[in-house]
Amino acid sequence: MALVKENKGDLNLWGTVVAVQANFYRVRLVIDSEIVYLLCTRRTRLKKIGQKVMVGDRVVVEEPDWQDGRGAIAELMPRTTELQRPTVANAQQILLLFAVEEPTLDPWQLSRFLVKAESTSLKLCLCLNKCDLITEAQQRQWQQRLENWGYNPIFISVKQKLGIENLLNNLQQTITIVAGPSGVGKSSLIDALIPSINLRIGKVSGKLQRGRHTTRHVELFELPGGGLLADSPGFNQPDLDCSPGDLAWYFPEAKARLQQGSCQFSDCLHRDEPNCVVKGDWERYEYYLDFLDKPIALSEAQQQTPDAESSLKLKVKASGKRHYIPKLETKKYRRASRRERHQNLQEIYEHRLLNDLQDELDDI
Ligand code: GDP
Ligand code: ZN
Repeated sequence: MALVKENKGDLNLWGTVVAVQANFYRVRLVIDSEIVYLLCTRRTRLKKIGQKVMVGDRVVVEEPDWQDGRGAIAELMPRTTELQRPTVANAQQILLLFAVEEPTLDPWQLSRFLVKAESTSLKLCLCLNKCDLITEAQQRQWQQRLENWGYNPIFISVKQKLGIENLLNNLQQTITIVAGPSGVGKSSLIDALIPSINLRIGKVSGKLQRGRHTTRHVELFELPGGGLLADSPGFNQPDLDCSPGDLAWYFPEAKARLQQGSCQFSDCLHRDEPNCVVKGDWERYEYYLDFLDKPIALSEAQQQTPDAESSLKLKVKASGKRHYIPKLETKKYRRASRRERHQNLQEIYEHRLLNDLQDELDDI
């Protein structure tokens, strides 16, 4: 997406939504190479058709009032990507930030985040911070190990300002979401990349006058030299909710094996099945087996709690009255133990609860 070339030779005034708060949207526009922000409302027509506007959306702004910094969103460009947690449209890249020490890099936790990131359609940029805390030899070891996993990490030290330029080069002209566990240096990195961040927040007027640290809402920040960066409050506890069959594709080592050959069974889950091309001698195979439990439990629980539509049958009485009666269950599933069933439902319940909670927060 061209973030710079917009508003040249187009009669419409195009911009990017960088923050959403209640019914107000902060839209970033580039006018004659200069960046301008307008606080916009949404046209009634969009409200009527239930068209939501998200951070990252490309929009047409009408009736701009440059003096007061106001405008109205009249139109939306179709989204190229759409993330739910955090709620961001058109993001192209995930910047996954971990620290090599303090906290010590945990390969299992890193893999959780990597798999979650791989399950999106976004490009992945893996960055390891605090390299000032390890020796060059230790750094080479990590480099080698991660290359074996299929990654080429960027090593940085925010503290010593090492590798920052290299990282910035990877963030140009794109919308990037920063993710990673707490304590790895996400805030420090964002402050280092965007020195003007506090100044700019101080200048914003009206409804959106809130600091980055007080808002739960996702917001896009301008990077020097182009590119937009979002902190991601919702991506910090990755939940593996993919289907069991997809999981192997989110490990580059396993994906490479699947691309070179195929397993005997098309629904192979690469555990003890005969003639499996994935099972074997690669470091993270144990993690794969470990991570697989959750998607299997989720998919089993989903099968056991069919939605109302598929479990009910429509009956139309002679009087013309319509009512629903329960369908006879014909599908056969492996019967899970009571404890398993309870656990699965509990997990689904918790999962939904968290999602609903997040949705409510998003709507505030
Ligand atoms: P966040 O929770 O991911 O936002 O992490 P913070 O940005 O709050 O950083 C956590 C701690 O790590 C702070 O005490 C930072 O000063 C420290 N820190 C950040 N970057 C570096 C680094 O490159 N090297 C070292 N040694 N410490 C760092
Ligand atoms: Zn297999």
